Amino acid sequence: MDANEQLRRYLEQRLDMGETELVLDSLTVDETLRILGARAEVAGPKSSRAEGTAPREVPAKPSSATSSGDWRETLRASGAESGSADPAHDEVASSAASRISGTQSGSTSPIAASPSSLESLTTIDLLAAHVASCTRCPLYSTATNAVPGEGNPHADFMCVGEAPGATEDQTGRPFIGAAGQLLTKILAAIDLKREDVFICNVLKHRPPGNRNPRPEEVIACSPYLVRQIELIQPKVILALGTFAAQTLLDTKLPISKLRGDVHRYCGVPLVVTYHPAALLRNPSWKRPTWEDVQLARRILDSRTTRPSAGA
Ligand code: URA
Repeated sequence: MDANEQLRRYLEQRLDMGETELVLDSLTVDETLRILGARAEVAGPKSSRAEGTAPREVPAKPSSATSSGDWRETLRASGAESGSADPAHDEVASSAASRISGTQSGSTSPIAASPSSLESLTTIDLLAAHVASCTRCPLYSTATNAVPGEGNPHADFMCVGEAPGATEDQTGRPFIGAAGQLLTKILAAIDLKREDVFICNVLKHRPPGNRNPRPEEVIACSPYLVRQIELIQPKVILALGTFAAQTLLDTKLPISKLRGDVHRYCGVPLVVTYHPAALLRNPSWKRPTWEDVQLARRILDSRTTRPSAGA
């Protein structure tokens, strides 16, 4: 590896750790990377893991176009950078579209295998109306209301849970029961209001008795989530709990292995944390959850504020 490559990797690591202010002879990381010919896309998160270990950037499974597994290379290989003012957004659009259309062959993910058909739903409200009359799986017949999701249709921060519970089913609103109230507090702790973010679930109808979602239900419902991400183009996704994380990341890894890393879903940085309902049962998970959401917050900050030279 030559010195340039080594330096590039080092600087990109610094970005991953949130070191946007690192100055080298009055150059910022961004400028230095540009000089080296590597594009500084976003500043990543600061480590929230055990001391001295930075969160790894873990590319989403479908982004396996490059051998190194580095998401930046994947981004470059996808061509999403060329001439784009905001390559991350372009990548969301192109990758999500290819996922919707099922062109990512070889994936066994229900969410990746979702059929394409929702391009006509051009707004979050249109999508919600569609979900309200959805009969793609039998869950609509036992549910009281569909729960499409709510919040800012242009949110930078998106929370994805598992499926509506009883209170959500009664009201048609996501995360408003006990777990939802805790989620609202967690968001407030990182200075986010519910109305500023977008909150939804993998499943849009409640499974009877809160049983686990079935694969065929996820297959039927996931085009809505894919389309929501495509329309909203969040800068960060917070996956709440094992089910949302495993579904979005197409993995069977336990949450203990998924937390603390920065993953990607269709190009969007994705952080995994415990489900608020699990947190209610296990208060000792509050601390790691706090670390997770701080990580998500740092990614959000790094993607919404551009460092300027000498600032
Ligand atoms: N649990 C979820 O996963 N989603 C909700 O909306 C409520 C509880």
